[in-house]
Amino acid sequence: MRLDDEAESQHVEDRRGAGGFGLRTGGVGIGTVIVALAAAYFLGIDPMLLLQGAGSLQAPPQQAQQQAGPAATDEMSVFVRKVLGNTERTWDTVFRSQLGQQYQPPTLVMFSGATQTACGTGQAAMGPFYCPADRRVYIDLSFYDELRQRFGAAGDFAQAYVIAHEVGHHVQHLLGVSDQVDAARRRISETQANQLSVRLELQADCFAGVWAAVAQQANQQLLEPGDIEEGLRAAAAIGDDRLQRQSQGHVVPEAFTHGSSEQRVRWLRRGFESGNVERCDTFGTRQL
Ligand SMILES: [Zn+2]
Repeated sequence: MRLDDEAESQHVEDRRGAGGFGLRTGGVGIGTVIVALAAAYFLGIDPMLLLQGAGSLQAPPQQAQQQAGPAATDEMSVFVRKVLGNTERTWDTVFRSQLGQQYQPPTLVMFSGATQTACGTGQAAMGPFYCPADRRVYIDLSFYDELRQRFGAAGDFAQAYVIAHEVGHHVQHLLGVSDQVDAARRRISETQANQLSVRLELQADCFAGVWAAVAQQANQQLLEPGDIEEGLRAAAAIGDDRLQRQSQGHVVPEAFTHGSSEQRVRWLRRGFESGNVERCDTFGTRQL
């Protein structure tokens, strides 16, 4: 990606190093975190459930060590700010031109280890997530090391896709999709709820694709050769089937909550090839 000309978002909160615990400060072994990461976020436990039951990993009351985080000019932080800034401009365009609505951007919180959210305590082990109650995207940047090392998905566009996917959840919140899904979830079986979750996740992937397409229309220099392939590779790497096979040796489709590798790739691609949110109707289609 070429982000040189991109303005940084003003909606980033840097909570790194602000108390908490985690990969860097010890307390939880890296193995535990990796297992939790694979088992929890990707394999389909609802992050909200995890948040509520996060007792054992709970950070001690935070008051001491409120050190300043790393300088906000570090490379990763600048990258995140620029990508988020681009999603703001791009979704502003999409909302006006495709939906006749006004886009309201989310805030992105960078944290390390654990942090408080309106949805409960956020843990690095959960992977990046979106909390609709405070309209914030949460990310511990060490997730990018995981993505590269454990999931073999390297590259800046793969990293941008992670942000774009979470912003996709924010868009779903603005459009009222997530509220409808939450309401429906309470009335149905777990298997059915998982199927709804898959549709929600695949739509967020599709929205990430729409973002990339419309961002590219506005700035032809933004994407470089190979970028989209990088994103597709990342989407494939975190498909439920591949993760299940890695962690438990077999695949249980009923337990999917994010979609198979093939489905994630398909919907990201569909968003990218159309640049149109209407093409992301994962709820109105039989065949995902
Ligand atoms: Zn998601």
